Amino acid sequence: MDIRLYNTLTREKQVFSPMNPQRVTMYVCGPTVYSYAHIGNARPPVAFDVLFRLLRLAYGEDHVVYAANITDVDDKIIAAAAETGRPIAEITALYERIYREDMAALGVIEPTYRPHATEHIEDMVEIIGTLVAKGHAYQGQNGVLFHVPSMNDYGKLSGRNRDDMVAGARVEVDGGKRDPADFALWKAAKAGEPAEARWPSPWGEGRPGWHVECSAMAKSVLGETIDIHAGGLDLIFPHHENEIAQSECAHGKPMAHYWLHNGFLDIDSEKMSKSTGNVKLVHDLLKTYDGETMRMALLSAHYRGPLDWTEALLAQAKATLDRLYNALRRMKDAEAADIEAPDGVVEALCDDLNTPQALAELSALATEANKSSELAWPRLKGQILAAGRLLGLLQRDPDDWARGDASDAGRIDALVAARVAARKAKDFAEADRIRKELAAEGIEIMDGPDGSTWRRI
Ligand code: AMP
Ligand code: ZN
Repeated sequence: MDIRLYNTLTREKQVFSPMNPQRVTMYVCGPTVYSYAHIGNARPPVAFDVLFRLLRLAYGEDHVVYAANITDVDDKIIAAAAETGRPIAEITALYERIYREDMAALGVIEPTYRPHATEHIEDMVEIIGTLVAKGHAYQGQNGVLFHVPSMNDYGKLSGRNRDDMVAGARVEVDGGKRDPADFALWKAAKAGEPAEARWPSPWGEGRPGWHVECSAMAKSVLGETIDIHAGGLDLIFPHHENEIAQSECAHGKPMAHYWLHNGFLDIDSEKMSKSTGNVKLVHDLLKTYDGETMRMALLSAHYRGPLDWTEALLAQAKATLDRLYNALRRMKDAEAADIEAPDGVVEALCDDLNTPQALAELSALATEANKSSELAWPRLKGQILAAGRLLGLLQRDPDDWARGDASDAGRIDALVAARVAARKAKDFAEADRIRKELAAEGIEIMDGPDGSTWRRI
């Protein structure tokens, strides 16, 4: 079973070959826990959860070690604490809990490790010390900086040339930087900053920079070189580039062999941003949509491409799940064969996590199940469930899923009744509006002598 993954570092799809198939290692940059996660933030954990499941299938459940960190020290967290007057630890514990609940609702399985930045400060100090000793870092006015020109192949991940990097960094030339591209490893504590956010170091009290947090956590829980390192596209530069610089200059070996990046999620074709007010929080969306429907929507596009989050996308995801669960419901009384996910689904995922193709294969199985005789049900049910497990879908009792439909039926009944009432009151515009609203959901109202009924078309 060859797994091919697109590697940002080599800019090509490569056959995945772990250093040690008994211990395949993967690290995904996690959230900074000072507020709710938005649906874009859910894309990396969901996409790489599918990779985690695929690797477990290929190498065995106990042979894949997956770490996804929690960034619980950061300028934004300190700012949130100052703004609300609440202790930092209270804020980070609250939003970490909510994050984990949100991810569980999206069917994300717990990573093997969830390292917290605050638990690894000594490891960060150690890496910074090594970098200083090796001449890759120096003390500036406000802490310790990594000296970018000290690394020959700096920029290899993002492919940015020096002029681009310097242009991006010029705005913040200060603090005794020797080169405009140099970046912070250790930030000296400023007057008035809380005791909770400062730690001792050979360079005075302060806190680590964001990039070195991941270098230290990846090393501590997984090792100096790991197989896969992943995150969103926006992390390629500077975050991952700087992680590479720190880890490779400190340890003298590659930080990771495969670098994977997911594309961005937009809302109604627009970039999600606080300024346009179109930020959709996972926590809020879960009040309206089922977590499994949201996961299906996230997996409907290839992880590297863009994903446009719209009402239509969610309606489509729900309809796809309805169809799959209906096929399972039809085969309710059959005993599922204990078989592996069908080749077509596994092959699609092995091709750089092609989830749209895997879902098409799953859909074809449902079509087959709807046409087949009971003799084929044990195999088909077994295959659909195994494919669902690999994708993190379809593990609910199909009757439970249908009961979700039943409450949907209650809502439709209420709309149909409202339309009858509107007609009685000669409010034909309102009656027409309701008819159109239901038609948009694929529901047809049938008016008969005994009243109005409806059906899905
Ligand atoms: P942040 O909390 O901003 O560091 O983001 C956490 C993770 O979410 C990172 O891996 C980001 O690359 C990713 N991310 C943030 N916004 C989006 C988005 N709109 N679409 C996809 N991924 C995103
Ligand atoms: Zn990171």
